[in-house]
Amino acid sequence: MYKRKIMKILFAVSCAMTAQQSNAEENWGYQGEKAAKHWADLDPAFTTCKTGVNQSPIDIRNSKAINANLIPINIQYHQNSKSIENKGTTVQVNFEPGSQITAEGKTFQLLQVHFHHPSENYIDGQEYPLSGHFVHQNENGELAVLNVMFEEGPENPALAKIWKKIPKKNHKVDFTNVFSGTELLPKTKMYYRFNGSLTTPPCSEGVRWYVLKTPVVASKAQIDQFEKAIGVNHRPLQFVNARTILK
Ligand SMILES: [Zn+2]
Repeated sequence: MYKRKIMKILFAVSCAMTAQQSNAEENWGYQGEKAAKHWADLDPAFTTCKTGVNQSPIDIRNSKAINANLIPINIQYHQNSKSIENKGTTVQVNFEPGSQITAEGKTFQLLQVHFHHPSENYIDGQEYPLSGHFVHQNENGELAVLNVMFEEGPENPALAKIWKKIPKKNHKVDFTNVFSGTELLPKTKMYYRFNGSLTTPPCSEGVRWYVLKTPVVASKAQIDQFEKAIGVNHRPLQFVNARTILK
């Protein structure tokens, strides 16, 4: 009995060395009383989820988007992943400083990429089974999200690398220098540009959205694996209101 207890403690210690408790469970979610329609009522800090007028996600209608001859985004991502965490609400890969994008004359550092199933944003009424949100921040604290859509197809080797390391809920593990954001990007990087918000509480606005038009692939098994780990984690579509979408 005593020996078993010691073994249990040793096991717990060894686990703690490889996986650390990342954060407490979020006070919002996607099901039941924590679901998106209740976010604004869960915490006064989440009021914008209800009162905001430039909220994300949206259905991007190509015919309503304005031709703006958008300048290609200069993407400079490096293999500088740092850690991977299961936040309960998503799977997130964090990066060391150094990967960045330059868009509209501003440079934003890549902080993290996380995933949604299904995609959150739609393109022409179409939802995708998975999307990746590359979250960046510039020196003024402004946020820019590069959105990559996944359609069902062959296995995605970059995604396989990430999925293999998904820790248990609310845990974070080391993922140092093994993954670059470029591994998940399509060759063609034409995009839609609009203003929006975080798609999770506190739903803060003033976020620049760059949604890549060309999807990449993920296999059915990979999509199922994410659903098994996290479940369905998409916020319903929000009104476009007075916003302009550029293409
Ligand atoms: Zn997201």
